[in-house]
Amino acid sequence: MAKFIKNTNYMTFKGIESELHDLVSQSEIPAEIITLGHSVEERPIYGICFGDGDHRKPELLYYALTHSMEYVGNAALMETMRRLSQHNGAAEHAEKIEKMNVWMIPVLNPDGYVKIEEQLGRRLGFAAGRKNARGVDLNRNFPVAFYHIPRSIFAGSPVKASPYYRGASPCSEPESQVFRDFILGHNIKMSLSFHSFGGALLFPYSYTKKKCRDYDLFVQICEEMTHRQENPYSVKPGCDLYNANGEMEDWLYDECRILALCMEIGKIGFNLEYPATWLNPFYWANPYDPRAELDNITPAALHLIDTLYNMFVKPFEPIAKF
Ligand SMILES: [Zn+2]
Repeated sequence: MAKFIKNTNYMTFKGIESELHDLVSQSEIPAEIITLGHSVEERPIYGICFGDGDHRKPELLYYALTHSMEYVGNAALMETMRRLSQHNGAAEHAEKIEKMNVWMIPVLNPDGYVKIEEQLGRRLGFAAGRKNARGVDLNRNFPVAFYHIPRSIFAGSPVKASPYYRGASPCSEPESQVFRDFILGHNIKMSLSFHSFGGALLFPYSYTKKKCRDYDLFVQICEEMTHRQENPYSVKPGCDLYNANGEMEDWLYDECRILALCMEIGKIGFNLEYPATWLNPFYWANPYDPRAELDNITPAALHLIDTLYNMFVKPFEPIAKF
């Protein structure tokens, strides 16, 4: 079984599955892999839980690959998981994770992932796409401002042929339902999703220019993260990038009271050094070699564990008696 797709620095879906099992079995922090549900084409959607899974404790969620071609997002999540589960990362976080759970959903749209993998494996390797197997943009499929009239071309479209097709109704898609049911059955306090590209750390709202109640708190949380980056990302509400309705972070925040962040990884991936990137849309969304960008992201992503601990665990600890 090939762990990497030929001529690329990105993993096969089978490679991801096998590494997830290895990471969980070798993790120095208690960990478990669970199948949360299935995609349109019956592929498993995995959730990995670090911690004992008691969801009376506060929980943190990382998730990736909502959009088919945004492979670097999955790579970022896998790297976050490696650093959390082993060596220094495990030693640093083990005690905090006794008081919380850290969840990871590495591939929310497995059909999309496999479709891109097949395209990359062909002779020219051109690959592009963002939707699920029924042609729905999952990040426009959530019950928040779903029927709003689009104000930007990226906004969420009622037109099936659009790359931003929102679906027939809110959460019409199996992948969205798996995600919704996971959220409603847990105690997630904060979340971070990985997308590409834009070099930005985004927070709600995307559907309106209105400032959210926690605007200042979001800026503070995001800046604490970007301070840990060698090349810091910009920090702004989603609507400053573009307006979008039916978007997951807005739903998580408005309906579920979750402090939901979204990282748009990297600048445009096109790189003069590598001819393979010149004409292939896949490399506009993904750096040819993601390693430098992963080093830039992971410390910021892992910092959220401390943020959650400081906000949702520490204030409720009994004060030691003397
Ligand atoms: Zn995306």
